[in-house]
Amino acid sequence: QLPAIGIDIGGTKVAGGVVAPDGTITDTARRATPGKSVSATEDAIAAVVDELAERHDGPLVGVGVGAAGWFDRTGDTVLFSPHLAWRNQSLRKDLADRLQRPLWVGNDADAAAWAEYRYGAARGSSLMLMITLGTGIGGGIVIDGRLQRGAHGVAGEWGHMRVVPDGRLCACGNRGCWEQYASGNALGHTAREVAQSSPAAAADLLDRVGGDAARITGEVVAQAAADGDPLAVELLCEVGTWLGQGIADMAAILDPDVVVIGGGVSVLGETILAPARDRLERALPGRGFRPGPRVVVAELGAQAGLVGAADLARQAVCDGVG
Ligand code: BGC
Ligand code: ZN
Repeated sequence: QLPAIGIDIGGTKVAGGVVAPDGTITDTARRATPGKSVSATEDAIAAVVDELAERHDGPLVGVGVGAAGWFDRTGDTVLFSPHLAWRNQSLRKDLADRLQRPLWVGNDADAAAWAEYRYGAARGSSLMLMITLGTGIGGGIVIDGRLQRGAHGVAGEWGHMRVVPDGRLCACGNRGCWEQYASGNALGHTAREVAQSSPAAAADLLDRVGGDAARITGEVVAQAAADGDPLAVELLCEVGTWLGQGIADMAAILDPDVVVIGGGVSVLGETILAPARDRLERALPGRGFRPGPRVVVAELGAQAGLVGAADLARQAVCDGVG
């Protein structure tokens, strides 16, 4: 069993690491995601892989790439990505040509789900669901030890369940998607609305961006909440409530034993998870008469995606399908 390189491509960054077979990360590297350009994104991936491989002594089994896109079942093609430039892109072939290494390619949240099942908060689970809160909401499903990718490869895209009829416009082209109300982007969006309509209530947030409401992002709100700003805490609570409602709806379909919350926003921990559990308790269909899922934060934190991608690469090579 050899180390592998794992890469996680989100809406804002390409993060990579060398991952040992026991899931520990021994080195990391990162670049900003060049959102609009396919070839520049591939350049960034190759640069991160090269940087890590150059510093690494000894053999590497392969490279796993988890990306914020919707893949076909083989992982050959990114069919679509709400936040990145990919449309029917032969990503695997492009990367195989460039990297000349065994590859696993697939969805970022699928990779995170796998990592949490293998090494993290969902060890021993019979049906786990992953929810990553980042630029958008990503999802992954592991049932009886197998990552489930759906008939066409795009299972678990619950960020795009419609939760508000005629709601906010989403990058996927629809309106009212869950990720418009419960992601890092959603947090920024709501905060900007409040800052524009009631600047006095948002004084602390506006202070942090030199008075320019348009510059308030999810990260700014998160920082303000950590510093105790009441509006920021309230906005996070709102995100948590949306999260809990969504989990209740998913429990009606898949009946998981554990739901793991990961992605950048999950570093906020209980500020979001406490209202989520509270809402889940009140919204779970059949509540009081049936068990519900545990809702826990990702043990591997924001690194889950790259750890899982590395392990999936290792497995693909061992199964001879890499
Ligand atoms: C995409 C997911 C992705 C997530 C990343 C969503 O909009 O549908 O595939 O994992 O964004 O934040
Ligand atoms: Zn959508």
